[in-house]
Amino acid sequence: MFDHPSFASHERVLWHEHSESGLRAIIALHDTTLGPAAGGLRRWHYADDFAALDDVLRLSRGMTYKNALAGLPFGGGKAVILADEPATEAQLHAFGELVESLGGRYVTAEDVGVNVADLRCVAQRTDYVSGVATAAGGDPSPWTARGVVQGIRAAVGFIDPTRDLDDLRVGIQGLGNVGFETARLLREAGARLVAADLDKDKRERAADELGAELVPVDEIVSQPVDVFVPCALGGVLTCDSVSRLQANVVAGAANNQLFDAAAGTALMRRGILYAPDYVINAGGIISVAREYLGEGDVAQLARAVDRIGERLLEIFERAQRAKRPSNLEADQMAERILDAARGEAPAQAPLRPVRVA
Ligand code: NAD
Repeated sequence: MFDHPSFASHERVLWHEHSESGLRAIIALHDTTLGPAAGGLRRWHYADDFAALDDVLRLSRGMTYKNALAGLPFGGGKAVILADEPATEAQLHAFGELVESLGGRYVTAEDVGVNVADLRCVAQRTDYVSGVATAAGGDPSPWTARGVVQGIRAAVGFIDPTRDLDDLRVGIQGLGNVGFETARLLREAGARLVAADLDKDKRERAADELGAELVPVDEIVSQPVDVFVPCALGGVLTCDSVSRLQANVVAGAANNQLFDAAAGTALMRRGILYAPDYVINAGGIISVAREYLGEGDVAQLARAVDRIGERLLEIFERAQRAKRPSNLEADQMAERILDAARGEAPAQAPLRPVRVA
């Protein structure tokens, strides 16, 4: 594992098989300098164990940077359940026990393939869960979508200060929890939607309820739109797909959008403004973190999420001045926050969760 291309000095990686329930899971704690590792649980039908390990290593590292740049007192972690079907109650309980065994060093929440009901099931076995509240907090997806829309607004305004979302053409890839809500908010603000999803019901809902123009999944990247909004899975931006983009902004919710560093360089060379994924999609973890810490004021949460736009503008400006890809600029800003914390403070004790259920 130490030679794995996505291994980045992760502090701890746990492989867990619970034969009774059939649970197979990996938890990766990347860096806990800023606090307990926080990041969602993904359930996915991985091609093989290598793909699952790659995903959890990359996602947990992204969470370290995401939490640092969002100013949260949390480090970076992530968990994956390797399963073709939704996790069973017994598997979610076994996963909860695994999280509990870490004594608060990892706090879990929703990600792809896992919903609020699943997390409530996990919460029957551990307190180190967030994204389960019924009042403020709960499902993080609407907050992620809100942050994405703020980010799109900032990116479009950075290119042309006279431009707003009205009449903007956006191409949305993935109409799941975050993608659909992002599409709805954009439509409400006057944008014109082009959309694709593997799932027929989700596509049709977007066409019926939001008037989205539907295109095949392999054509969404190359649509003649102003903004491409990836809200499906990672790795969508390769040198090849970047060469086919017609949008001049890429700004969406998906984690790990860049297949590799070369894709970030390719975006810059083509003059396409890229909103670093872990910055623009931080709305969900901001909600999750505030819920965990018992900060339940919705108006304050909204203000915290809306600051994503300002944060992106700072990254765009710095990247432009330094003439380098925005993703590298964001990485460097996050590294500086971590370096400063390493110099100043000893490792923190795990935070205690605030009981919500
Ligand atoms: P989801 O599972 O609800 O939605 C994903 C959607 O993408 C599904 O509808 C799926 O059918 C579709 N899809 C998959 N592959 C596709 C393809 N090739 N082309 C078109 N559609 C495709 O997941 P979600 O919670 O909406 O998350 C979407 C992305 O945003 C993920 O990358 C996730 O990690 C990231 N993210 C989510 C949150 C959150 O709050 N849920 C927070 C931060 C980041």
